[in-house]
Amino acid sequence: SKSDRLLGLAPSSFEMTNYVGRFAPSPSGPLHAGSLTTALASWLDARAHGGQWLVRIEDIDTERCRPDWAHHMMGQLACLGLVPDAPPVWQSARSHLYASACAQLADAGHMYGCDCSRREIRTGQSSTLRALIYLGTCRAKNLTPDRRLAWRVHLGHEKENTVIAWTDRCLGPQVEDLQQTVGDFVLRRREGAWAYQLAVVVDDAAQGVTHVVRGQDLASNTARQIYLQRLLKLPLPQYLHSPLVRDTQGRKLSKHLGAPEALVNTPEKARSALQESARTLGLHVPAEHWLKPTLAEGLEAAVQAWKIQWAVA
Ligand code: GLU
Repeated sequence: SKSDRLLGLAPSSFEMTNYVGRFAPSPSGPLHAGSLTTALASWLDARAHGGQWLVRIEDIDTERCRPDWAHHMMGQLACLGLVPDAPPVWQSARSHLYASACAQLADAGHMYGCDCSRREIRTGQSSTLRALIYLGTCRAKNLTPDRRLAWRVHLGHEKENTVIAWTDRCLGPQVEDLQQTVGDFVLRRREGAWAYQLAVVVDDAAQGVTHVVRGQDLASNTARQIYLQRLLKLPLPQYLHSPLVRDTQGRKLSKHLGAPEALVNTPEKARSALQESARTLGLHVPAEHWLKPTLAEGLEAAVQAWKIQWAVA
C-alpha cells in the first residue's frame, strides 16, 4: 500500500512483521526443562520471523493453577532473556470471550447440553487405555446448554467435514477424523470449567496469533482446534510441534512425573539451561556463542540456527 511505500517497507517485510507467536504455559508449577524448551522454541521462531512473541497464562483450571507460579515462571523467563513483547494475558480473566464463542456455536446449532456421567460414556467402550469417544448420546435429548450440564460440540452438524488435514511444520502432513478419535468433544465441563480446546482457539484468534509453536505432546489436540476455528470462522494459524525433553526412560518430562524446576537464577545456570534446550531442539549453536559476556549472543546464534533448521527466509 501507499503507506508501506512511504515507510520504505517492501510488501514482504511488511508481511513478516505480522507474525505473532506465543508461549502458553499452565501455571501449575515452575518451568522445568521441558516447558523451558517449548518457551525457547516459540521465542526463537518469533525472532527468526522478526515477529512478536506473547505469553498467555493458561490458568482456567483453577484447582491446579496458582498466580504465584505464573509470576515465578515470568521471572524464570526474564532470567533467560525471553521477554514478551506485551504484558501476559490471563485466561482466568477471559470467561466472557469463551462464553460468547459458545453462544455463537449454540446459535448455529453446533453445540448441545450433555448430562451423561463418566460411567455412561464408558459403557460399551472396551479399552481403558484409549481416550473415550463420545458417541453423541445426548444429541437427541435437546437439552439447553445451561450451568448444570456439560457443553459439547455437535460434530458433523450440517455436514461439516470431520476429517481434518493439516501440515505441521515439524511433523509433516497430518490427518484425523474426529468422529473416530474423540467424537463430540467437551467445550465446557459440568463444573463450569472451560475446556482447553475452546479457550486456546478463542485466545489464539483474539491475540492475532499466526504461528503456534508448542510441544509434540499437544499435536493430537490440533485437529479439534482446527475444527473449532472453522466453525467460529477464525483464521487458521500454522503449527510447529517441537521435540520434547525426555527422561532416561524416554518419557516426556512433566510436572506430573516430578520434573524438577529449571534453575536459572545465575547467568551460568541460565546459560546452561538454554544450551541444553537448544540441543534438545536439534540446533547447532557453536559453544563459543554461549561463552560471550551476555546471553544475547548465544540467543542470537540460536535464532540463526533455527532459521536454517526450519528454512525461515
Ligand atoms: N497450556 C498448555 C500447556 O501448558 C499449552 C497450550 C498450547 O500451547 O496450546 O500444556
